[in-house]
Amino acid sequence: MKPVHAILALTLTALPALAQNVSITPIGSHTGELCANDRAIVFEDPTGVRLLYDPAHNLIAGNDPRLGDIHVVLLTHMHGDHLGDRRLRAVGAGSCASSERVPAPNSMTAEVVVAKNAALVTTRAMAGFVANKVKGMRGRPLEVCPQRGAPTAVPVAAACMSRIDLGGVFIAKTADAAHGVEITIVYASHVNNAPPALLSDARRAAVEADGAVFEYGPATGFVVRFTNGLTAYLSGDTGIHSEMRTVVNEYHGANLAVLNLGNNPGIYFSGAHVINELVQPTSVILTHVNEPATEGGKLRPQSRTAALIERLKRPTHLAISGRTMAFDGQGQCVDGC
Ligand SMILES: [Zn+2]
Repeated sequence: MKPVHAILALTLTALPALAQNVSITPIGSHTGELCANDRAIVFEDPTGVRLLYDPAHNLIAGNDPRLGDIHVVLLTHMHGDHLGDRRLRAVGAGSCASSERVPAPNSMTAEVVVAKNAALVTTRAMAGFVANKVKGMRGRPLEVCPQRGAPTAVPVAAACMSRIDLGGVFIAKTADAAHGVEITIVYASHVNNAPPALLSDARRAAVEADGAVFEYGPATGFVVRFTNGLTAYLSGDTGIHSEMRTVVNEYHGANLAVLNLGNNPGIYFSGAHVINELVQPTSVILTHVNEPATEGGKLRPQSRTAALIERLKRPTHLAISGRTMAFDGQGQCVDGC
C-alpha cells in the first residue's frame, strides 16, 4: 500500500493550484450559448461537494447526464422556471429564444433530489412542497437531513431536506475534508407563488375562485462559502434591496455575484448599482437573461445583457451552457472564462 500512497501524495502536491479552484458549469438549453430560459448551474468545491442551483427548465430528466453527481440541490423560489414545472424535451430542442419544454408534474426539483439521492436546501415551506411531491413519486416523503448545527456528510445516506429558513446555515462536507461548504439562505425581494399546474386540484380551484396566488413564504437567494474562500452570492430572482450591501457584502464578503437578470425584478435597470455599489464582488456571472444573449457563443451586441455589461465595473462572465469556469478563493476566474 505504501507506494500507492506515495504516488498519490506526489500527484496531489503537483497540482495544488488546480485543486484549489471551484468549478462552475451552467446547464442550459443549448450547449455553448446563454439562452433565454437558462438558469441551472452546477458548482463543484475542491473537496468534491457538488451543488445544483435551481433545476429550472434546463434538465431533460432528474438524471440528466450533464449533471454528474449532485450532493445538494438549492431551490430559491417556487416559480415554475426555477422549481421546474417543465423539463427540456432534449438538449438543443426549440430555439435559444424559447427552448422546447414539456410538463414535469412532480417538479424537476423533486425529480433531481430523488434521482441523485441529494440533500435539498431551501426554506421549510418550500421543502414541504417538494417533500410532498417526493412522497407522491416513491410513497414516502423526504427525511430531514442530519444537521443539528454540525456539518451534513455528503453524499447523504438517503435523500433529505434542510430544516432552515432565512439566515439559516447548512454545511455540506465530504468525509475526508477538513471543512464543509457553508450555504446560507438570504433575502430576495420577490414573490414566491407556486405554479398552479403543480398545486392540488382543491388548492388550484380555491385560488382561481379568488383571482389569487398561493405563496410558500419568502423567495430567497443564497450565499455559498466554498472551502477555498470563494464566497458566491446566488441572487435568485430579486429586485434591488439594501441587504445586498449590509448582509451580502458587509457581513458575508461575497467575492462572486451570480446575478439573475430578467424583466420582472428590474435588474436590467438597477443591476449596475447592485454590482458596483452594493455587492461589490470581484467578479460577476450573468444568468436568467430572458433573451438569447449569445449567438455562436458570442455576446449579441444589441442584447440587453450587453447593454448592462457596459455599465458593470467588474469582470463579467456569461453563464454559457456546458462551459466550465474555474474560480479561485479571491473570486477571480482563472480558467474557462
Ligand atoms: Zn421568479
